[in-house]
Amino acid sequence: MTDKDHSFTAGQDLAHALALLHQQSPTAQDIPAQLPTTGYGERATLDLLAPHVLGQAARLDRPDTLAHMDPPTPWITWASALWNARLNQNLLHPATAPFARTAEATVIDWLIPYFGMDGGHLCAGSTLANLTALWAAREVAGVKVVLASQAAHLSVAKAAHILGLNYVSIPTQRNGQIDDSHLSPDRLPANACLVLTAGSTATGVIDPLRLAGRAAWTHVDAAWAGPLRLSPSHAPRLDGIEQADSIAVSAHKWLFQPKESALILFRDTARANTALSFGGGYLATPNIGLQGSRGAAAVSLLATLLAWGQDGFAQRIARCMAMAERLAEAVDAHPALQLWGQPQSGVVVFRPLHMAAQALQQRLPEGMFSLCMLDEQPWLRSVAANPVADIAGIIATLSVAVDNRR
Ligand SMILES: *Cc1c(COP(=O)(O)O)cnc(C)c1O
Repeated sequence: MTDKDHSFTAGQDLAHALALLHQQSPTAQDIPAQLPTTGYGERATLDLLAPHVLGQAARLDRPDTLAHMDPPTPWITWASALWNARLNQNLLHPATAPFARTAEATVIDWLIPYFGMDGGHLCAGSTLANLTALWAAREVAGVKVVLASQAAHLSVAKAAHILGLNYVSIPTQRNGQIDDSHLSPDRLPANACLVLTAGSTATGVIDPLRLAGRAAWTHVDAAWAGPLRLSPSHAPRLDGIEQADSIAVSAHKWLFQPKESALILFRDTARANTALSFGGGYLATPNIGLQGSRGAAAVSLLATLLAWGQDGFAQRIARCMAMAERLAEAVDAHPALQLWGQPQSGVVVFRPLHMAAQALQQRLPEGMFSLCMLDEQPWLRSVAANPVADIAGIIATLSVAVDNRR
């Protein structure tokens, strides 16, 4: 190594990294089994890694991909993620991140009106957002028990466990929504946090959000379906969410952000932050929330919000919703397929009548549909997170696979 260390001043090799993104990857060479004593250098490393990293990942923007809540990412976020890595700003330290902190405040300010909240912050996923919310509920509202439906995400039970709160799983109705007969005022414990799910992970079902406000604290886990609020035509599906005390939204799902990006929003942020703020010592400003050092994920979200505007999000989400409607109609009309229920937030669940769900899945391209278990039965599941999917092609492929079952 010379006295000028070029590892910190990228030249043309950075452009090579970009070029590799658009190239067909050659055959992969093995990654050494042991840590190399002498480094390969950056350029050779890029060439070594490209076939592995770029060649062996699912392409979420493929026209036949509709299986998971992971969206393809708009290219402007590739650029902002690169800038973020270059700068390595830390939201914990205002001095290293003067603009990143502004970017986060701007993004939060722009999005809170859609949810009726008054502030919040970003964190690395809704698992953390749910934990942050229940932590605030425990400290601020004296919550001792968490109630959530059987369809709630496992992160809610995990958060209750970490926080030493009792967890009560409430049955769901046939349509997958939380059974509100268990939530009448006389049955709700005084110190309860009610968690409502807006877009359950398995079926996309939205719990009745008019139940928000009944308990000492209501948290809405809108990790998946929260972004419907940006679509004027679909926002009413989440009416009532503004009565929540806290809301989790994963930006790395239906806001098309690279991982790890999520929002935790509060109706009374000043009150919540009293519980979530730790200060003193070497910190110039208090550390709010669960994470310490934290990157500038907000820059990517800000870039996408600027590039697309509200309309750009609304149109892409509406396109995804329309794909789910079309798929559900096709499944419902097919004599050999059974639709689990009408899709509420872009998730379509169905199964074949004359063969196992797994067998049908194996006949289809990998990444087209996922499997989920409902009442201990396997079902196929599609999630409309890919706005550039070819839904007509997917329906045609599905029909062929079902019809050629013999
Ligand atoms: C995905 C999901 C979560 C967890 O969010 P991460 O961002 O993956 O941590 C929580 N709740 C629901 C309903 C989800 O779909």
